[in-house]
Amino acid sequence: MTQQTAHEGREGRRIDVVSLYPNDMNIYGDSGNVLTLTKRIECYGYEPVLHSYNQGDPWPDNVDIILGGGGQDSGQKKIQDDLHARADTLRDLADRGTPMLVVCGLYQLFGKYFETLDGYRIPGIGIFDAITVGRKQRLIGNIVEDSSDFGAIIGYENHSGQTFLRGGTQPLAEVSRGEGNNLDDSTEGARMNNVIGTYLHGSLLPKNPDIADFLIHRATELRYGAFEPVVTKEQGSELAMLDRFSNSARKVARARPR
Ligand code: GLN
Repeated sequence: MTQQTAHEGREGRRIDVVSLYPNDMNIYGDSGNVLTLTKRIECYGYEPVLHSYNQGDPWPDNVDIILGGGGQDSGQKKIQDDLHARADTLRDLADRGTPMLVVCGLYQLFGKYFETLDGYRIPGIGIFDAITVGRKQRLIGNIVEDSSDFGAIIGYENHSGQTFLRGGTQPLAEVSRGEGNNLDDSTEGARMNNVIGTYLHGSLLPKNPDIADFLIHRATELRYGAFEPVVTKEQGSELAMLDRFSNSARKVARARPR
C-alpha cells in the first residue's frame, strides 16, 4: 500500500536497476555507484526501483540498467555458476542496448575468461572480446584517463588480473596516469554497445556523473522513447549540490599521489 502511494503520479517513469551480486562483488566502495545512480534517477523525476540480485534469486521481470562491482578472486569463483546460468539473458539484454556498468571483477567476467595467478580459469560470458590473466604485480592506485565520450574519467584501481582486448573491442579510455587494463598498452576498460567495463573503483559514478547520466539517458530512451526529465526546484538544487561535490572530489583525486 505504501509502495502504491509512492508510485502515484509517476506512471510510466519507473526505472528498474539491477545490482549484480552485491554480496560477493562489491569492494572499494562500488555500492556508491548504486547510490549515485538511483539518486540521479530520482532527481530527474523518474522512479528508481532497485533489485539486488544474488546467486539463486529470481530474475527481475524488467531490467533497465545493470550495475556490477569488483570482487576478490574467491568471490568471482563463487558467483561463476550463477553468472553462467544468467549469461544468455545478460547477452540478450546487452545486444538490445541495455546500459550496463561492470567494474573490475565483473568486468573481467564479462570478457572471455579470467585465469587467476594460481592457474584457475574462470570462464566469462563473452560480452566483451577480452581475456584476463592474473599476474604477480598488483596494479594499485589512483588513475586518470581520457575518453572520447566522457572526457576525463577519474578513479582508483586495484587488480592482479591484466586484461587484453581482442578483435575490434574498443577501450573505454586511454590512461594518462596509472596502469589500466594491463602493463603493455595504455588502454582502460571496454565498450560494447551500451555496456561499459572498467577497472575504476572509487566509487566511479559519484566522481564521474556523466557516466551515470549516460546510463540514465540510454535506459529512458530504450524504455520510454526519450529522456524527459521533470526536475522540481528542490531536485534542481540537489543536482547542483551533487555536481559541486563531484567537482571537488575530482579535483582532490587528481591531486592525490598514485
Ligand atoms: N580479483 C580480481 C583481480 O585481482 C578483481 C579485483 C577487483 O575487483 N578489484 O584482478
